[in-house]
Parts: sequence; C-alpha cells; structure tokens
Amino acid sequence: MLPAGRYPASSFVVPGLSSRWACDNLGKLHCGFSIKRMPPQVSAAQCNCMVYYAAMAKKKNLPDYILRRTSRRRSVAIMVLPDGTLEVRAPKRVSIGFIETFLHERLEWIKQKQKERETRPQLPKRTWLDGDVFYINGVPHTLVVKESSRISVEVADGELILFQTDPTNATRARHNLMQWYKDQALHDFKPRLARLANAMEEKVPNLEITNAKQRWGSCQAKKRMVRLSVRLLMAPKDVQDYVIVHELAHLKHMDHSRDFWNRVATFCRHYKAMEEKLSHNAQLWRFD
Ligand SMILES: [Zn+2]
Repeated sequence: MLPAGRYPASSFVVPGLSSRWACDNLGKLHCGFSIKRMPPQVSAAQCNCMVYYAAMAKKKNLPDYILRRTSRRRSVAIMVLPDGTLEVRAPKRVSIGFIETFLHERLEWIKQKQKERETRPQLPKRTWLDGDVFYINGVPHTLVVKESSRISVEVADGELILFQTDPTNATRARHNLMQWYKDQALHDFKPRLARLANAMEEKVPNLEITNAKQRWGSCQAKKRMVRLSVRLLMAPKDVQDYVIVHELAHLKHMDHSRDFWNRVATFCRHYKAMEEKLSHNAQLWRFD
C-alpha cells in the first residue's frame, strides 16, 4: 500500500487487485468516472479500466507500477522508489501501449534496481513509543519513553530516553522528539557550517533546519541561506559534513557542473562514498 499523502489525488490504488497498481486519468476515459470526484483510493469495482489494464499488464509479464501523468512532462521517465515501487511519469497523451513497450525494454534495469532496493536496510514502521530505533550521528538508539512532569531527552548507552507526562501518548512523543532533534541539529550543525565555510573561504551563510523528507539539504545563494534537513542528524558526522560542503559549494556554483563537483572534492575527497552511504541508508535515517 502507498504511504498516505505521498501522491496527488489524481493517482489512486486499487486495493485487492494488485497493491501497487495505480492509474490517474484512465478512469475518466474508460468508465466515465470523473477523477476529481474520486477518492484517492477506489475499489476495483468502481473503476473497470483498472481491472482491464492490470489484467493486461499481468499477461504481458510487466511489473506493477504507479502511473503519474502530468501536463508539464515531455518524455516518459521511470524510477524505482526507495520502497521498491516502480513509478512511471508520463505526459498526458502518451498511450499505455507506448508505456508498456518502454517498460519492456527496461525490464532488466527495473529488476536490478528493485533488487538493490530490497537489500537496503529498512526500519520497521514507527510507533513513536518504546522500542523504536532512532539514529543519532549514525548510531542506532532505542527509544524509551518515561513518565515525568517535565519534558526532556537524555541520550545514554544506546538509548534515547524521552521524559513526558504521558509515556503512552505517541503523538506527544513524536512532537517532543522532533523538537529535540531540531534543537540538537541546529546546535550541532551551526558551528560546523561556520568552520567549513571558513575553510572554503565563504562568508558564513544563514542556517535553517527543515523537516524535508526527500532532500538532505538545499542552498539559496542569493539569500546566502543553507537549509539542512533535521534527518541529517541521523547520519554519521562525515556524511553530515559532506552535505554541508555540498550546500556551501552551491554558493559559488548553483548547478551540479564539473566545476561544482571539483569544488566539493577539494573539501570532501570521499564525496562519492558519502553519496553512496546517503542513498544506501536513506530508509534507516528517517523519522516516518
Ligand atoms: Zn546540489
């Protein structure tokens, strides 16, 4: 099943038919159902075209996929999401026949990517209560929630101990922990940003800690603003430093050109290994 809220309302899943099969505006074409009125998830019975296309794909030995159509796109692109789901992005007018041929031609690549994704370490779904694992500077810590009238957090012997009034309240625990991570990230990253900026002979930019789920960091050269995701605190320090150097290098080069990567390499020699660590552990170093 797809994580809620991750896809626009125009993508929907057919439960029971094939957990990952989705389509967007095909419903309108084939069963006269207006997509705008359709809930994000519809049953197979509500949308006959979904049954039709899913059955066709099965016959053709194609993997399940999510189809997202946008008017902005000019070409078809495929990507394997961190959880192994195959996503196809296509312009509005491209036929299903074309997309299927496109997928057939890239089956080996898809299978290889999905296999790679499967072997990446994963965390079980979060409960935000006792037993959950949270990474701090690359080290796993087990969450223990204890009762106390005052909210505080302690890190000791592989444990992340949260004190709050109701130790069974997961919503409060999530709120309190996120707040702690954000404070800690600002506290840790600020001096490191200053140190690395000095090394790179850059005036120290402003720093903001964000809740970004996909991006580890971003940089707005004009505003001299570096934004780092709170998630980055979960990664080891060498990886954190790489992301900071990466964003600082964007102050001079706003693209990912050869000049940009040369500048990154000057201040972070093993940047390729850091990139690899980031993508390999993306499922461990996350909150939700
Ligand atoms: Zn970049």
